[in-house]
Amino acid sequence: MRFERDKGFEKVVLDNLRENAKRVSLRGVKSLLQCPRKIYWLVKEEVPPTDEQLLDMARGSSHHSILEILPLTEVRVELDGIVGKIDFLHDMPVEIFSTALGLGKTPRHYPFKLRQLGAYIHMLRKNGKYDGLKGRLLVFHYNARALRSWVVEYAEQELEKIWGTILWHKELIEKALETGVEPIPDPDEGECARCMFRGRCHSPRVL
Ligand code: SF4
Repeated sequence: MRFERDKGFEKVVLDNLRENAKRVSLRGVKSLLQCPRKIYWLVKEEVPPTDEQLLDMARGSSHHSILEILPLTEVRVELDGIVGKIDFLHDMPVEIFSTALGLGKTPRHYPFKLRQLGAYIHMLRKNGKYDGLKGRLLVFHYNARALRSWVVEYAEQELEKIWGTILWHKELIEKALETGVEPIPDPDEGECARCMFRGRCHSPRVL
């Protein structure tokens, strides 16, 4: 028996994944919840995702698809020119994701997901598709091979605040694209540590 690594085919697979990867969109909730400086550089320079990021995305969507055996309904909404595709499970919106983090974590450890779910609930409410304040986080801890389901209840003011941040980020990025001046950074906790621009970013947040 002989083995030979086929690097050419690995490249074909990665190229296909790259082709499928969604571009950064200034109309998407996920982009607008991230550090505006990072998104500005991504949009301006059209930085393609790295191989590692592509494989992380592939793993995330495969875990998501495993859970699509659930009776999910997808609702599309638009608010202030921003679009969202939101999963509904039974009577409330749900955000499904996977993590390498251990089981000791609570929703406070997923601030990005908390804001994303809150933004979706806000969009649904403003579109008259939902009048609740609750949503569900369904977390697949793949290292622990365990699931956790959390119901999160927001206050109306929290939803308004999340949406205000999204609109502020949108404005900052659009203005920066117009003027060519980088927007002020506003990274989430830990965002700089994972950012591909940390080597060139002179933000005091980059330690
Ligand atoms: S290093 Fe931090 S502040 Fe700079 S672009 Fe990345 S996330 Fe934003």
